[in-house]
Amino acid sequence: MKKRIALIAHDMKKDDMVELASRHADMLRQCLLVATGTTGKRLHDEVGLTVERKLSGPSGGDLQIGAELAEGKVDLVIFLRDPMTPQPHEPDINALVRACDVHNVPCATNLASAELLLAQLVPHHHHNK
Ligand code: PGA
Repeated sequence: MKKRIALIAHDMKKDDMVELASRHADMLRQCLLVATGTTGKRLHDEVGLTVERKLSGPSGGDLQIGAELAEGKVDLVIFLRDPMTPQPHEPDINALVRACDVHNVPCATNLASAELLLAQLVPHHHHNK
């Protein structure tokens, strides 16, 4: 079954997310992708990925993804948070990360851990030797 991956990046981290997704685009194309609004738009426009877009984070996008995660519909989260900028929706951010911990869903909150998680997702065709 295809993995469903949630992608969220705060404004200062969106360039990093686009760069990360570009390098892993072949693998990400084999997954189902869901993202907060602006992150999803950039991944579509700049990387060419098909992404299900939720609301923007400050409008409740994190909560929408958290709700799906609680229902078992999200397999992995890449959440590039900005630790240096206060966020108006910090309770929502914490709720999503908490939901990952409650449901034991892998969640990378920085680029280094995102690389490690994505390295574990081997594209299917690599198995066909
Ligand atoms: P966005 O939401 O992708 O719509 O910007 C993420 C955030 O900034 O919280």
